[in-house]
Amino acid sequence: MSLTTLSEWLRCPICFLPLEAMPPLALGCDDGHRFDVNKHGYVSMLATQPRVAGDTPQMLDARADLLSSGAYDAVAHLITENVLGGRTERVIDAGTGTGHYSAKISSRLSRSARILATDIAADAVRRSVRHIGRERADGLVADTWRPLPIRDGVADAVVNVFAPRNPEEFRRVLKDDGRLVIALPQQDHLIELREALPMLDVPPDKSQRLAEDFSAHFTLEHSATARYRLSVTRDTAVALRTMGPSGHHTAAQGPMVPAALPREVTVAVDVLRFRPNTVRPRTRRSDDQLSSSSSVD
Ligand SMILES: [Zn+2]
Repeated sequence: MSLTTLSEWLRCPICFLPLEAMPPLALGCDDGHRFDVNKHGYVSMLATQPRVAGDTPQMLDARADLLSSGAYDAVAHLITENVLGGRTERVIDAGTGTGHYSAKISSRLSRSARILATDIAADAVRRSVRHIGRERADGLVADTWRPLPIRDGVADAVVNVFAPRNPEEFRRVLKDDGRLVIALPQQDHLIELREALPMLDVPPDKSQRLAEDFSAHFTLEHSATARYRLSVTRDTAVALRTMGPSGHHTAAQGPMVPAALPREVTVAVDVLRFRPNTVRPRTRRSDDQLSSSSSVD
């Protein structure tokens, strides 16, 4: 991250004018709005208290451990293959988490490519920028369900892995020939864990409903599924539960681990690639309109 590379992604969240670098550690617009940049390589632009809780450090730790074991490498490979193709110089990772998937993508990009890692949790953005590498990554703390402080048409690709989504804003920040790649669980993803532990259910036909929800701004171009059996230890099983959306509830209830945990679980993740429709939306001022078209895992 440098002030310049960070500023090139961003617009003012208040007046939507482009943000410029203001050394040593700030960004500013022509209207006089100023934002401090963190020395860890990210800027926080949460206007108000977010409506959803971001990942907790406990959830991020669990996810980092699990992902570094290689358990989801096939998922990461499928995501990366869909992001690459054509020109891929600017990638936005919306809901970056630990930065695991972006780090994998980054290793396949040219030296001049950059990734903007966004998340609602500052701890996630800090980890992600470090994981991807500061020479390659810029970080932004922002709420995906609000108008994003990102300029129009800056991205060749937007990646969204098990994270909140905003079709209108994703379209706005993408170039006309860009790609949107979304990973989301199928209904039987980790089904054995759901049967053994209290976890959130995955609704049926999730991918089909998502494509319909996105149809005003995107056309589905390709879909594929990473599906396999994963051997799990007790620790892995607990990590799998803690790292996902059920992790918020786990934290509240404390650990609850029955003796009869599954030894194998089903991994079933859809990876959808969309191309943008021709008309790029402008940011609407009403947050209510945006939230009505937003969705989350
Ligand atoms: Zn401004």
